[in-house]
Amino acid sequence: MQVLILGSGVIGTSVAYYLARAGHEVTVLERQPAPALETSFGNAGEVSPGYSAPWAGPGVPVKAIKWMLMQHSPLVIKPMLDPAMWHWGLSMLRNCTQARYETNKGRMVRLAEYSRDCLKALRADTGIRYDERMQGTLQLFRTQQQLDGTAKDVEVLKASGVPYQVLDREGCVPYEPALATVKEKFVGGLRLPGDETGDCFKFTQALARLAEAHGVKFRFGVNIQAIEHNAGQGVTAVRTDAGHFTADRYVVALGSYSPALVRPLGIRLPVYPVKGFSITVPITDARGAPESTVMDETFKVAVTRLGDRIRVGGTAQLSGFDLKLDAGRRDTLEHVVTDLFPKGGNVRDASFWTGLRPMTPDGTPVIGATRIPNLMLSTGHGTLGWTMAAGTGRVMADLVAGRSPDIDMEGLTVARYGG
Ligand SMILES: Cc1cc2nc3c(=O)[nH]c(=O)nc-3n(C[C@H](O)[C@H](O)[C@H](O)COP(=O)(O)OP(=O)(O)OC[C@H]3O[C@@H](n4cnc5c(N)ncnc54)[C@H](O)[C@@H]3O)c2cc1C
Repeated sequence: MQVLILGSGVIGTSVAYYLARAGHEVTVLERQPAPALETSFGNAGEVSPGYSAPWAGPGVPVKAIKWMLMQHSPLVIKPMLDPAMWHWGLSMLRNCTQARYETNKGRMVRLAEYSRDCLKALRADTGIRYDERMQGTLQLFRTQQQLDGTAKDVEVLKASGVPYQVLDREGCVPYEPALATVKEKFVGGLRLPGDETGDCFKFTQALARLAEAHGVKFRFGVNIQAIEHNAGQGVTAVRTDAGHFTADRYVVALGSYSPALVRPLGIRLPVYPVKGFSITVPITDARGAPESTVMDETFKVAVTRLGDRIRVGGTAQLSGFDLKLDAGRRDTLEHVVTDLFPKGGNVRDASFWTGLRPMTPDGTPVIGATRIPNLMLSTGHGTLGWTMAAGTGRVMADLVAGRSPDIDMEGLTVARYGG
């Protein structure tokens, strides 16, 4: 079957790889000159099924107000006359009940855990390298209240069978020896030994090369303008600035830019860009750098070792599609990494980046079939697109082939929004 994939972030590229491996004829359209140059470029590097949970949860509205008042705030809202933003925000608030949180988390964990297994199998099959580490992740608490507050999370982890360790201050140090010099800054942590880390950009680039070896054609520098369709045939072509492209099946994997392109087809996709930032610091003293990911719970900033670099990522900013690099956000990231890893590297030599998380209000991505028989979606992966990429690729390849995926698709398609 001929399949056209729109977008070559980590999601579109993973879908392309698994489809090609299953024997399909795949073309990928991408406006950038290479894969993973937008949101999949500079993320925090966590492959973390253990932390798969929606942002919308009980108590979050009150926490959000507190966060916005902090000096190094993890949440920034720039009020705009953007109906999509308000609609998305209200819908997110409606997802803050305990019942919805549990439903949404269950759906996310289902895909994230499957994805971790697919990533392991992919490594074993291909030997793909991407500065990967399998040393777990550590959520670090600066206050006793935060540490005591883990009781609820621990219940959820227990119920989902996710291995975990609750650690006191001394207990954190063997896993992250560089923290020994700043022990007074924290009281303990929650470690998830099953989590992994790695560079999403390197992974996507390497996977694109493997996909090419299986026959995938990447068309870079192509701007997608519209998805053409009619009532009888469904999608008939994709119009771009390089002409029209046709196929038997079409997969939309355009991250935050997906809703605008499917809206004329009558599909309302509540995916909104939630801006995040990262800095990448060259390591000057490996003993002063993290071993894996340390997630600073106070500032919601993740500090991750990626080869000879430290990636520091965080902040949720609602400000539409604006890609301006805010100096204030950089200050927050620099503050966290110099506070916890003062000797790891020099933040003056860091590069600064921003990306738009394609977020749904319930945290769960939108993958699989639509009402239009030859059109499928693979977007809305929000905070966890890197974690969920391999599993998404496998699921989409099964669906295109008409096979039942290994995981239940309940609650993962656009049907949950009536789309
Ligand atoms: C600060 C930050 C930290 C993060 N940390 C983590 C983490 O630790 N772990 C994790 O799992 N996830 C993390 N994420 C989330 C993760 O990065 C995203 O979920 C993921 O990259 C989304 O991938 P995607 O392929 O859907 O989107 P993208 O990477 O944005 O890909 C979409 C592609 O479509 C192309 N495109 C869009 N419009 C057009 C058009 N009109 N024509 C042609 N091409 C087009 C774009 O160029 C782009 O390449 C983080 C995100 C941010 C911002």
